[in-house]
Amino acid sequence: MADINDNKWIEIDIAAINRNLKAIIGKIPDDVRLIAVVKNNAYGHGAIDVARILCQKGVDFFAVTYLEEALALRRAGITGSILLFSPIITEEGIREAILNEITLVVTSLSDAQLIDRVSEKVKRPLNLHLKIDTGLGRFGISAEELSEVIEILSANLYILIEGIFTHMADANHEGYTIKQFNKFNNIIKDLEDNNIYIPIKHCANSSIFLKYPNMHLDAVRIGTLLAGHYPVGKLPRPFTLTEPFAFKTKVIAVNNLDKGDYLGYFRTYRLKRNAKVAVIPVGFSNGLALEVANPAMNFLDLLKILARTFFRYMGLRRFSTQVKIKGNLYPVRGKVFMQMALVELPADSDIEIGDIVEVPVRKTLVASNVKCAYVKDGVAGKIREEDKTVYITD
Ligand SMILES: *Cc1c(COP(=O)(O)O)cnc(C)c1O
Repeated sequence: MADINDNKWIEIDIAAINRNLKAIIGKIPDDVRLIAVVKNNAYGHGAIDVARILCQKGVDFFAVTYLEEALALRRAGITGSILLFSPIITEEGIREAILNEITLVVTSLSDAQLIDRVSEKVKRPLNLHLKIDTGLGRFGISAEELSEVIEILSANLYILIEGIFTHMADANHEGYTIKQFNKFNNIIKDLEDNNIYIPIKHCANSSIFLKYPNMHLDAVRIGTLLAGHYPVGKLPRPFTLTEPFAFKTKVIAVNNLDKGDYLGYFRTYRLKRNAKVAVIPVGFSNGLALEVANPAMNFLDLLKILARTFFRYMGLRRFSTQVKIKGNLYPVRGKVFMQMALVELPADSDIEIGDIVEVPVRKTLVASNVKCAYVKDGVAGKIREEDKTVYITD
């Protein structure tokens, strides 16, 4: 890692991404398309680079949440379709999207009216997908608005309604999922009864893809699996996935402290034995030790959260955040600081300043400006200075 002067960086294993992609594609039927979801910087892996890697393997359809994410991919030379998951609310935004051949989503009558108006001015072909809300409560065209939306869009000669989709709320609950699926299918059937055929119908994210093969329809939208792990819940696990992501840093200080000494703000941890304490330059601003602060999902989930919090409070190692140094795990102690954290090492440890530390940060929270090294067979490539990305040069 001699090329990287910074004291923290991400390593992305290209071989792992390729292996995961191959395993996933192996389970997608031939007549179903893959829409690779690379939102939120490809779940922390680097949207542009992941898209490039996937492109090389023949992926030609991507999805992201926001226009700026799509434009970044276009600027980087990604030529496949790029579907947006959320509506654009300004004329300038829609104009920019049309000029860059981004596939727009229509989530309401007002979206349709705005897109229609801008499209008539820009006079360029435009693909779009209709979004139907069947029970997530985020967005979607209502049943009452649908025929008017289609009327407006069909009358516009520049517009192709390429797809129609919905998004599932709770793959673990079969009854609710089937209810959403039936609602979606009934809408499609109504359209087809009126001779309206939309080529790409889709409703499956990673968990629906795994659990309900009958819901693959014409395309599956896969993000989490491509990021190298299984979604939460009881789901089939038909292939092995590899984590491509590692966040690394270096020890920047080591102190010898005594049994009974306190660690960190509010003195939340007191050493139970003499120890070495290493300082690492990674804190909650880097996504370390951050729990997603959503409410508990149900009573059992609440109990689990309480138990975990309690065991962590008691200092049980298995429940603490642990970092890896020279192949061994060591606990983070005390409150994590904004940009630093403390790691307890045995008193006789030979770990010293500069040693490399692997830190389990939440990869979806890591800032996209952290340097990223793409690694192949354990060897990192060279930094390309424009975007601080390291490339493998064969
Ligand atoms: C994020 C997202 C996906 C991908 O979901 P995963 O579970 O990560 O595969 C698919 N569709 C929509 C609308 C999304 O927002």
